Amino acid sequence: MSAEAAGNGSGAAPHVELRRVTKRYGPVTAISDLSLSVDKGSFTALLGPSGCGKSTLLRMIAGLEPITAGQCFIDNLDVTDVAPAQRRIAMVFQSYALYPHMTVRQNIAFSLSVAGQPRKVQNERAQEVARILQLEPYLDRRPAELSGGQRQRVAIGRALVRKPEVFLFDEPLSNLDAKLRVQMRLELAKLHADLGTTMIYVTHDQTEAMTLADRIVVLDRGTISQVGSPLELYNTPANKFVAAFIGSPAMNFFAIDIAATNGHTARVILPGGRPADIGVKSSGDARSAELGVRPEHLILVDPKDPGAALVGAIAIIEHLGNSTILYVDTPAGQLIVQGEGNLAAKSGQSVGLRLNESQAHLFGATGATL
Ligand code: ADP
Ligand code: MG
Repeated sequence: MSAEAAGNGSGAAPHVELRRVTKRYGPVTAISDLSLSVDKGSFTALLGPSGCGKSTLLRMIAGLEPITAGQCFIDNLDVTDVAPAQRRIAMVFQSYALYPHMTVRQNIAFSLSVAGQPRKVQNERAQEVARILQLEPYLDRRPAELSGGQRQRVAIGRALVRKPEVFLFDEPLSNLDAKLRVQMRLELAKLHADLGTTMIYVTHDQTEAMTLADRIVVLDRGTISQVGSPLELYNTPANKFVAAFIGSPAMNFFAIDIAATNGHTARVILPGGRPADIGVKSSGDARSAELGVRPEHLILVDPKDPGAALVGAIAIIEHLGNSTILYVDTPAGQLIVQGEGNLAAKSGQSVGLRLNESQAHLFGATGATL
């Protein structure tokens, strides 16, 4: 994808830009000819499964990892060969790596003390950062006397105190329990709103990316699979990889035959024989494809309902309170269906599934959305 194609088109100034960047570790190509432009003040998430190259990409932006080919720009300046300390960038890692023998105040002020700033300045800045991160009551404690969330806030504080122009986060919440993760997520969103600093956030967790970022870059084996806002990726995935990665429970996929295409509509024949009309970008000549439909776009109806696209039997029911997840055995395989919270349904029960055709997607042999 070109740098332009990877931009978000908002017209804001690019703050961080990668041009045709490749990273090889010996025979392993971690990042392959990747171009990306990140707008000033944006919150961008780099999302993808383990090993897709997220950390490598972040470390190249930070200057911690030499770039094999291509260039990195910050504020339109080529920083490809500039040392990390000169990049006005701060990075927060999953492992907080706090100094155990130092207080919160000393941990936060550490980089200032190394830089030879006067004690008074160190204390003032540490105080200010502690206020922003609500760490003031803990300034004189040591890391062992803090909760996981508080430790992570100290790690963020250590980065914040340097007044960076760009914040890089590498899975900073992975070590926290589920409840704390949600709370820290809100705090990070607030921090971004308050500071307006450019933030680039690496995660394998699609919920984290969807809730925090205004723009998500989905990575697949060292290349960009798609760039877009959370809802763009959710509603119009460019390919099966993105469709499968975004959304929980995950999208259902099954093979269908294409009977005819007419402009931007494909008439498909579902397993079991019923037809459905699915929107496509262009009428190609494919005769078969995979249909993708999210669990919330399969609607439970009576098995005799003429609108039922598929008929099946409920295998498993999960009551989550706010929704019900059903695993339904159909001629298209076992499909995940999301119903309302108070659904009265029994395992073994025969059900019809109506397909929300306008929300279904077709994927061709290469995985690209048709
Ligand atoms: P992610 O952060 O998305 O999980 P990484 O960026 O850590 O992925 O790794 C991307 C690929 O590069 C992986 O195949 C990984 O094994 C490889 N890799 C990362 N760091 C090194 C290294 N120092 N030496 C060799 N291979 C590496
Ligand atoms: Mg990583």
